[in-house]
Amino acid sequence: MDIVRAPTPPTRLVILGQPVAQSLSPRFQNAALIHAGLPQRYEALDVSPARLVATLAQLAREGAGGNVTMPHKQTVFTLATRTSALAARVGAVNTFWFHDDSLIGHNTDVAGVLSSIRALVPDGLDHACCVVLGTGGASAAVLVALDMLGCGDVRVWSRVRERAAQLITRVNVRAREIATLAEALEEATLVVNATPIGMDGVSLPFDVSLLPRACVVSDLIYRRDGTALVRRCMARGLGAEDGRRMLVEQGAEAFRTWFDIEPSLPVMWNAIGGAPTGV
Ligand code: NAP
Repeated sequence: MDIVRAPTPPTRLVILGQPVAQSLSPRFQNAALIHAGLPQRYEALDVSPARLVATLAQLAREGAGGNVTMPHKQTVFTLATRTSALAARVGAVNTFWFHDDSLIGHNTDVAGVLSSIRALVPDGLDHACCVVLGTGGASAAVLVALDMLGCGDVRVWSRVRERAAQLITRVNVRAREIATLAEALEEATLVVNATPIGMDGVSLPFDVSLLPRACVVSDLIYRRDGTALVRRCMARGLGAEDGRRMLVEQGAEAFRTWFDIEPSLPVMWNAIGGAPTGV
């Protein structure tokens, strides 16, 4: 049987990453915990790769749970005693808890991606041409989500073409790697930026003028002041959102996983300054 719910709620919640101080998760998770009247609190733990195993052992003793972010998602997947089917498919854990001292891992990034794509493309992906940039953990979650949404034309771009082919094989989806990004963009109806290009607030992963007029763009990056890619797309009249919806929705799914209750999405959004208005 698949495991997507913790049998008992964690005693406290953490997000493990490095760096992690910039994470918005404590802000919206604590708001949701307080709103739900739950005693647990959620805190960011800056953990180096060398300290990860010892930190998890301490968290197991406490009966804690939480989220995992860069650079630990793949490592926690390999350390987990059991994982959900989604975590196994993506090859990464972003949500965990302990059961009888065993580390259990799940992946709610896919749920986050599903929500952000549904918001951008409410009519579905029947005739869509989706271009995904990047071959890391976020791209794997995007490919699984596109597969679940039934997208028949998915193209993956990497700086090294073989890496795109390897990712497609690993997550076992119908997709193909592309040689020239510009050519693929000209046919795209949905583009997902799953690279770090744009985290500096100014860089663009591609030339927005190449996109057709009906194209929409999901930039998985989020920044307090928005991303340059989303701003440039909106200036061209294209639908676009940054990564905040994915962030909040993966967090909401993690909350359901730990507590088996529905968190308040408006409270979560409020805590980080409101929902996006780009679409
Ligand atoms: P990652 O594992 O580091 O992968 C990023 C991929 O981008 C790499 O595999 C690489 O693919 C490509 N890349 C890296 N540097 C590049 C560059 N300078 N130029 C072009 N391509 C480059 O990171 P990730 O965990 O998948 O995350 C990717 C992005 O998604 C990050 O910006 C992260 O902030 C964002 N993210 C957002 C959320 C959210 O909730 N909104 C969740 C997870 C991740 P190739 O080497 O094959 O080109």
